[in-house]
Amino acid sequence: MSKHHRATKHTSATYHLRPELEARLPLPCVECGRPVEKGQRWHVAHLTPASKGGRTTRQNTGAAHAMCNLKAGGKLAAQQTNSRRRASGNAREGIRTW
Ligand SMILES: [Zn+2]
Repeated sequence: MSKHHRATKHTSATYHLRPELEARLPLPCVECGRPVEKGQRWHVAHLTPASKGGRTTRQNTGAAHAMCNLKAGGKLAAQQTNSRRRASGNAREGIRTW
């Protein structure tokens, strides 16, 4: 646990934080504020986006529901909202049908 920072990689920089966050669930979703529960689909999300200088640290990341995170992601997600809404009534395992 006391490792020093390694050089920041650009690829999947949030990946190593996931297990730590997962261990702390439920956590409030950084997008909608509702709890992200274990067993739900969620993503590691930046509180301050990397594009605005946010760093991938524990302090600057949190859990976001997969859907919230994708919605925040931009136009592509917005386009998919309709089809998702239908599917969500189903509570299907896996939002990876796209
Ligand atoms: Zn959410």
